[in-house]
Amino acid sequence: MARPPESGVDGVPKGFVRAPARVTVAVPMKTSLSTGVVFEARKLRKVYHTGEVEVVALNGVDLELGAGELVCLLGPSGSGKSTLLNILGGLDVPSSGSLQYKGWPLVGSDERTLTQFRRNCVGFVFQFYNLIPSLTARENVALITGISRDPMPPEEALEVVGLGRRMDHFPSQLSGGEQQRVAIARAIAKRPEVLLCDEPTGALDVTTGITVLEAIERTNRELGTLTVVITHNAAMADMADRVLHLSDGRIAREEHNETRLAASHLKW
Ligand code: ADP
Repeated sequence: MARPPESGVDGVPKGFVRAPARVTVAVPMKTSLSTGVVFEARKLRKVYHTGEVEVVALNGVDLELGAGELVCLLGPSGSGKSTLLNILGGLDVPSSGSLQYKGWPLVGSDERTLTQFRRNCVGFVFQFYNLIPSLTARENVALITGISRDPMPPEEALEVVGLGRRMDHFPSQLSGGEQQRVAIARAIAKRPEVLLCDEPTGALDVTTGITVLEAIERTNRELGTLTVVITHNAAMADMADRVLHLSDGRIAREEHNETRLAASHLKW
């Protein structure tokens, strides 16, 4: 089950500092706290300018993502998946449109608020694991728990991803899939509301990729973390609650799965 939103001072969602008055006045507050909506995006556009060239990466994306959902973003290369994920995670900002996190405006938030948001509310997993080679699995995770507000012990996070017995191994002593599971443990140890994964199995063979997907599935199920996974691999769609198909910077199609297929049963 999804954890209820935690409120801090004056009902500000966990991880947020109160936004400057000009922002809260400029963007009306929504009541999405009561509906379980975590993200609400309207007319999101992102245009990159490189010299004379203009690239429209997102071209009017509307979406709502709910607490505890597992959502796949599918689409060809260049369709805008990473751009959308980066904007949801506060790593990038849209050129126009609105984006709210639990009713709080991310678009227009100051850098301090965005930093708090990234630090406390979002876990990221990328295709490459970015572990520090001279630190053990436990120490790689502890780096993050050391700067988080309400972390789980690194050992617990490593248990969730099935690495309870490999905590004192260095990255070079772990397979690619195990290193990616350390990266997932590092992302979830701060108990984020949201886990954003950009091609987490992109560098892995099928069997290893499935162990990584199982770790993501277990995190989603046991911690109730809203999980958004980018993939090229259509077979992964079966493990999601919802699949958003991106094409040319838009959500071209959306599918709901009545039941989710266990990651261990996926075939590709
Ligand atoms: P996907 O993740 O689906 O492969 P992206 O979101 O990475 O797609 O990219 C969407 C489009 O935006 C592509 O045409 C890409 O080349 C362009 N793009 C992405 N990031 C940048 C950037 N920093 N500068 C210029 N163009 C970019």
